[in-house]
Amino acid sequence: MANNEPKKGGILRAYLNFNVLYKILIGLVIGAVAGIILAASGVTALPKWISMFGTIFTRLLKMIIIPIIVGSLVVGASSVSPANVGKVGIRVIIIYLATSALGVIIGLVMGNIFQPHAELAAVTQLAADAAGKTAETNVWDVIANIIPTSVLSSLVNETVLQVIFFSLVFGLCLSFMKVSEDERIRTIATTMYNVFDCLADAKVAGALLTVTIACFLGYAIHIVAVYGGLLAIFRIKIGAFFKEARTPFITAFVTRSSNGTLPTTFAAAENLGVDKEVYAFSLPLGATINMDGTAIYQGVCAFFLVMSCYGRGLTFGEMGMIVLLATLASIGTAGVPGAGAIMLAMVMQGIDLPIEAGTTLAGAYAMILGIDAILDMGRTALNVTGDLTCTCCVAKQLGFVKADSVLK
Ligand code: ASP
Repeated sequence: MANNEPKKGGILRAYLNFNVLYKILIGLVIGAVAGIILAASGVTALPKWISMFGTIFTRLLKMIIIPIIVGSLVVGASSVSPANVGKVGIRVIIIYLATSALGVIIGLVMGNIFQPHAELAAVTQLAADAAGKTAETNVWDVIANIIPTSVLSSLVNETVLQVIFFSLVFGLCLSFMKVSEDERIRTIATTMYNVFDCLADAKVAGALLTVTIACFLGYAIHIVAVYGGLLAIFRIKIGAFFKEARTPFITAFVTRSSNGTLPTTFAAAENLGVDKEVYAFSLPLGATINMDGTAIYQGVCAFFLVMSCYGRGLTFGEMGMIVLLATLASIGTAGVPGAGAIMLAMVMQGIDLPIEAGTTLAGAYAMILGIDAILDMGRTALNVTGDLTCTCCVAKQLGFVKADSVLK
């Protein structure tokens, strides 16, 4: 009999059996150490063949995002019975928005406590370099643009929010078709459901230091106070929850993409005993609209930008506006690496401090972009944990959990 399995005890077998999380973490540490050594020896750019591996990794992640979103949302929306769609959907969205708003508030508090800012001279120097790094975007346009005019072009251009909107509507239609009186329509709906179900099962694998500390402290406080609080309110065992949440947390930390982490977040929800009809719907939605870590980052960074450029803190009016805009903007940004930085530009525009090329604000923004990868790791890990927490709370409240679930 042909045996393609690696030989027992072989190196390949040992490698395959080794926990993927440790492999990722070891890779991360080796990469960081190599980066420090190379920078110390004056190397500023890596040979193309080395950076190619990073590019391949990110491209593989991006490749699965659209199929996973379409597949899981269509399945999610069509498996909830039409009567439950509103019940689950509204609760999930409210809890997502509320936790994001709390995130911005925590970020703003951190900003006020740590008062992160850069010297104006340093910001001015960077201002000229920042040309072209800013985004001309407006929160209200983002919201209107959620409605696609052509679904095909949304899919091809990977306009994630439009894809989500379409998938939800399509899924809802399927859920009605599945219970149609006409047998032909029921058969078509079931066949389509199975196709999308397969898609969804695809697998995958100085000043700035103060900003970083303020952000990470904010992330930690949010986990303990907001998620710990929610889990306690909904009587979910914290230990059991975090045992499963650990894998998506670390995957998100390393990949910096909530959407790319979806397969592991699904697995965690499944292991926690949440019904598929809830998590297949709420998790992809959360990966895009629920970004608590990103919200905290907005609060801290908005403070940093204003303090660095204008030598003042934020007014109460500005803070209120930031909470509103950052919560809304989190709906409009996809869970991919670096999306939060684009949101930050949107939020600044919303408080009438647009980041225009050549201005000191653009210089300070460029500083943030310089450490964005580090901030993004933490905020993505928090974003994903938030999706899972809210999903478990809503599922438990509405009784969408399996009989042997640890959530019971
Ligand atoms: N990378 C984050 C995420 O995928 C979004 C962000 O950049 O804040 O959730």
